[in-house]
Amino acid sequence: MLTFAAANATHPHRMRLKKHIFLKGIYAAVGVLFVVRLAGWGGPQAGADGGTPSPAPTDTMPCADSSATPCADSSAAALSAVAPPVAPEPPSVAAVSPARARSRRVSLERKHPILSVPSYANSFPDLQDVHYAAATLHGVRPVANRLEAERRKADLVYVGANPFFRIDSAMHRSIPYLVPRASLLLHDIARAFLDSLAVKHIPPHTIIVTSVLRTEEDVARLRRVNPNASEQSCHRFGTTFDISYYRFHTVAPAADGPERSGALARRPVQNDTLKYVLSEVLRDMRASGRCYVKHEVKQGCFHVTTR
Ligand SMILES: [Zn+2]
Repeated sequence: MLTFAAANATHPHRMRLKKHIFLKGIYAAVGVLFVVRLAGWGGPQAGADGGTPSPAPTDTMPCADSSATPCADSSAAALSAVAPPVAPEPPSVAAVSPARARSRRVSLERKHPILSVPSYANSFPDLQDVHYAAATLHGVRPVANRLEAERRKADLVYVGANPFFRIDSAMHRSIPYLVPRASLLLHDIARAFLDSLAVKHIPPHTIIVTSVLRTEEDVARLRRVNPNASEQSCHRFGTTFDISYYRFHTVAPAADGPERSGALARRPVQNDTLKYVLSEVLRDMRASGRCYVKHEVKQGCFHVTTR
């Protein structure tokens, strides 16, 4: 300012001209800045992070005084108004709503209905003579007692411990041994039953085997209790087993499994329903030529012999 004043005193006309140009430049710069400011007035202003738009002052002011909920809502509304569209994430297993689970269950029930068989007598017509012929063809010579069964490991397979089916804890008049062919059949039936339950969205249950191999001692004991018990029982050959159709073992769900969280819709199930599914499995197994099946009304079981 001192140099400008001194120069102005020595050359007043020249200095007035320069001052005029200088003021014009200032006005032009202010005008340009004003135009730039006007151009950016209506759009979102960059926030402190340089990318996230700041909410308008009218939205943020109530937050300090009011509760957090309206504040969060207004901020979210402001953000959603300017945020780019985000592709929706696929729903997680735990986030399935009850209505959606119900809809899925109805769809599954239509896709995998429980039909049972038209008639037990007609679907499983194999009588004793058919079973006996297959038993003597594929079976072992009768076993005297339990000790002998354990010695004949080349002929017989122990089926007392596995995750796919249960041996009835009350089974006192037979022992859990089968010929390999019948053991494989029993495992396949048990696994097919579990698979079928899973497909039909029924809680997992395993079948219960109520009779397997009867030794000569077992048959003699049975005849003392029931004189009508047949000496020609197929259970003497290790080819035949009985599966209960009114008792099933419920498999407990895992502590942190989907059943616990309720994420998967499940059909309510009764023993009748389980019998229907087991009937379908046995019908298919019989139709494939792997076994003979008799529906035992008095004993409440399916009498199955390998073939
Ligand atoms: Zn039987």
